[in-house]
Amino acid sequence: MSAPSVLERIRALDAYAPGLSIAEIQRRHGLAKVIKLASNENPLGASPLAQEAVRRNAGLAFRYPQGGNPRLREALARLHGVAPERIVVGNGSDEIIDLLIRMLAADGEHNIVCCEPCFSIYPIQARVAGVRLRRRPLREDFSQDLDGLADLADGATRLVFVTTPDNPSGYRPPREEVLRLARRLAEKAPGALLVVDEAYMDFAEDEAAASLLLAGELPENVAILRTFSKSWGLAGLRLGYGVVPPAIADGFWRSRLPFSVNVLAEEAALAAMEDTAFRAATLTTVREGRRALAEGLTRLGCQVWPSEANFLMFRLPEGHDARVCFEGLLRRGIIIRPLRSYGLPEHLRVSVGTPEENAAFLRALEQELGA
Ligand code: PMP
Repeated sequence: MSAPSVLERIRALDAYAPGLSIAEIQRRHGLAKVIKLASNENPLGASPLAQEAVRRNAGLAFRYPQGGNPRLREALARLHGVAPERIVVGNGSDEIIDLLIRMLAADGEHNIVCCEPCFSIYPIQARVAGVRLRRRPLREDFSQDLDGLADLADGATRLVFVTTPDNPSGYRPPREEVLRLARRLAEKAPGALLVVDEAYMDFAEDEAAASLLLAGELPENVAILRTFSKSWGLAGLRLGYGVVPPAIADGFWRSRLPFSVNVLAEEAALAAMEDTAFRAATLTTVREGRRALAEGLTRLGCQVWPSEANFLMFRLPEGHDARVCFEGLLRRGIIIRPLRSYGLPEHLRVSVGTPEENAAFLRALEQELGA
């Protein structure tokens, strides 16, 4: 008797490669202290008000969340000045990405357009759904060729993904270019939803000028995604949201698993939204840390790409191997992110940490490069 097997397309998948965990590296290298700058988490941790909300509501763990997370949707609608009917929330924006793909694109019939490389959940979940991918390489300088994305789209295109600022490079396309892409898609691919993933947008130098969401530019074929995992400091609780066309929101609520956003995530997010001091401190820490890290990496002879996110992509000076350096940093108790799984074996990505963490990383890298 043979065991049942999963679909060939699933067996052929390269699973998502997450950042290594602190506990894993402590165990592997016998280290008491490990600094993780690998997953673009909040350098200041979780908001004190959100932590207090989790403690206060721990006793509610036995209850199911309220169906459809109405309090959260209303709070987010107020935050962004949009109708609650346009808000969707999910178990991380990962869940929203997965569901958008499954709601809009049919196996074998439709295609999805994105950049190469791009945030790897888009191509992975497209492959899980059996939907064809069309990919436009980034330009030499890692800027996105948004006209090139529009060129790839046709009547069978159901989703186009753009990340701004981009992961892993930190590049941010001008808002006007994203809007032009939306207009071109409306003409040549009228069935396509443009998903503008603004996961890192609040770290931009001028968020108001850069963000479609903040500008209230929400064409009918555009969905904006945001997450509580980064500037809001709640990655482990898993909460993402989207501002999407009402018809897409309607389909979303029909197909999302009923309780995927849990009671504590909801309470923590509502409290985090009140914690304006924590949020302001986060944004300042990231913007200042990004400058300090870029300067430090450049001083060490690395090539650093301009970033408006809470991480920097860089290449080591000539003669140094990214994999060897990454492993060396692990032994020194610093976890960063190799970008081999993005098809960039010579590039590395480091998240902005606290000033102390950034300095410790730069010291360890200097030792590694000199070793
Ligand atoms: N979009 C981008 C561009 C990301 O980098 C990430 C996090 N790695 C996500 C979405 C998903 O975030 P989450 O599921 O934690 O909300």
